[in-house]
Amino acid sequence: MSREQKAVEHVRKAFLTGRTKSLEYRITQLKNLLRFVKERQKAIAEGLKKDLSKSEYGTPLYETIGLESEINLAVSKLKEWAAPRPVTKNLLTISDQVYIKPEPLGVVLVIGAWNYPWAVTIQPLIGAIAAGNAAVVKPSEVSAHTAKVMEDLLPLYLDKEMYPVITGGVTETQELLKQRFDHIFYTGNGTVAKIIMEAAAKHLTPVTLELGGKSPCYIDKNCDLAVACRRITWGKYSNCGQTCIAPDYILCDPSIQDRVIEEIKKNIKDFYTENPQKCLDYGRIINQRHFKRVMAMLEGSTIAVGGENDVSDCYIAPTVLRDVKPDAKVMQDEIFGPLLPVLTVGSADEAIKFINEREKPLALYIFSSDNKLIKRMIAETSSGGVVANDCLMHFSVSSLPFGGVGNSGMGRYHGKFTFDQLSHLRGCLIKQLKMEAVNKMRYPPHTADKLGWARFFILKQVDFGSLGRMALLALLAVFFAVILQVIDHQTHHYSADFLV
Ligand code: NAD
Repeated sequence: MSREQKAVEHVRKAFLTGRTKSLEYRITQLKNLLRFVKERQKAIAEGLKKDLSKSEYGTPLYETIGLESEINLAVSKLKEWAAPRPVTKNLLTISDQVYIKPEPLGVVLVIGAWNYPWAVTIQPLIGAIAAGNAAVVKPSEVSAHTAKVMEDLLPLYLDKEMYPVITGGVTETQELLKQRFDHIFYTGNGTVAKIIMEAAAKHLTPVTLELGGKSPCYIDKNCDLAVACRRITWGKYSNCGQTCIAPDYILCDPSIQDRVIEEIKKNIKDFYTENPQKCLDYGRIINQRHFKRVMAMLEGSTIAVGGENDVSDCYIAPTVLRDVKPDAKVMQDEIFGPLLPVLTVGSADEAIKFINEREKPLALYIFSSDNKLIKRMIAETSSGGVVANDCLMHFSVSSLPFGGVGNSGMGRYHGKFTFDQLSHLRGCLIKQLKMEAVNKMRYPPHTADKLGWARFFILKQVDFGSLGRMALLALLAVFFAVILQVIDHQTHHYSADFLV
C-alpha cells in the first residue's frame, strides 16, 4: 500500500468519526488556522522569499491578509451558512417543511499551485473545514520551501488526522489521484487539469478547476491614461507577472499606444526604481524552466521597455512589447511572466471581436470613463470575472464568486461560495402523513380534471419570505376551500380526516 493510499484511508477514517459535523469543531479548527497564519508569519515570509523573492511587506499583502479575512468571515458566518435554508413552496407543499440543508461532502483533495502558494492552497482549505469536510492538502512541489513550511507547521495547529499535508511531485500527486475523494479542488494549468479530471472521472468525483489563460486588458481612448496605466503596471508586474489574473496583454487604439507605453514605463520606474533587479519589491521567476519559457516568448516581438534579464538570478525586467501581432509567439499561451504585449485595435467593437475569437479568459479588464461602453463590453463578452478601471481587485471581494469559465476553469470560490462549492446542498422535503385527499390528483386513474388541478397546484409558487402573516392565513383559507371544492367535485365520499 502506498504512502498516499494509507494517508487517504486514515483521513477517511477520521471523517467517519463524524467530528467535523459539529460547528464548534469547525470553528476551533478555523481559529487554529488563523493562529497559525498570525504566529508563523516569519516562517511563511522566509519560505516565500526563497521561492519567489517575495518581499517582507508583500507577503502579508498578497498572501496572508486575504486568508485572515476569509477565516474571520467563515467563523462569523458559519452558523448562518450551515443552517437549513427555507425555500419557496408551491401550493402542494404549503404545509410542509421545504428547505436546503448544506452537508459535508466527505474527503476533499486540495492541490495547490506555486505562484501564491499560501493563498491558493489554504483558501480552499478554509472552505473545506467550514463545510465540515476532511481534506488532504497537496502544496505545489515547485514552491518547495513553502511546501516544507506547510508540511512542518500546519499539523502543529490543525487536527492532523483530518487535514494532513502531503508533499511531493508529479508521482505523488498521481498516486493521490488514484484514491477516491469526494471532491478535488485543483489550482494550476489547463493541461494538468485534464489529467485531474480524467482521474476524478474514474470515481465520479466532482472537481473545481481554478485555471488561468490570457486575460485581456482593453484601454479606451476616453480614459484617464495616467491612472489606468498605474493600475495596470501594478496588476501586471506584481509577483513578477506570475498571477493567474494578471492582465496578459493590452488592446488599445493606435493613437494612444505611445502614451500607454510611456506611462507604464514611468510607473515601472516609480514602483521598482531604475534597476528593478535591486528592488526588494520586485520578484523573481520561480525557476529556470519557467525563465526559459518566458524568455522564448519574446521571439519576434519588439521590446519597447525593459527586456533585461539574468538567468542566474531568474530575473526578467518588467517588459513592454509594442505593435504586437495577434499571431506573435507571446500571444499563443498565457504569459505568466513580466512581459506586457500591446496590440492595437481600431475600435471597441474590434476589441470585443478579438476577445470573443479566443478562449474565455479568467479575467477581463476594461479601462474607460464611459460607463455605457463598460456595460456593453461586459454584455458582449464572457470571462471568469470582469473589472472595470482596475486590476486584480475582484479577487479580494469575498462576496464575489471567483473562478473561470470554459478554458479558464470550472466552479467558484471565496467566502460563502467556497462553503457552498464544498458542501452538498441537500434538498429536504418533510411531509405529514395527513391530507391524503390532496394527493388524489396524482394517483391513477389519471383524468383531464385531475391534470387541471395538478397544474394549478404545482404551478402556484408561494414565497413565504414576502408574505405577511395575515396574507398567509388568507392563502391557506383559499387553499382549503379549493381542496374542498376538488373533493366535492371529484369524489363526494372523502372523509374529512385530511383536514386534521
Ligand atoms: P504547478 O506546476 O505547481 O502545478 C499545480 C499542481 O499540479 C502541483 O501541486 C503539482 O504537483 C500538480 N501537477 C503538476 N503536474 C502534474 C501531473 N502531470 N499530474 C498530476 N499532478 C500534477 O502549477 P502551474 O500549473 O504551473 O500553475 C500555474 C498555472 O496556474 C497558471 O496557468 C495560472 O494561471 C494558474 N493559476 C490559477 C489560479 C486561479 O485561481 N485560477 C491561481 C493560481 C494559478
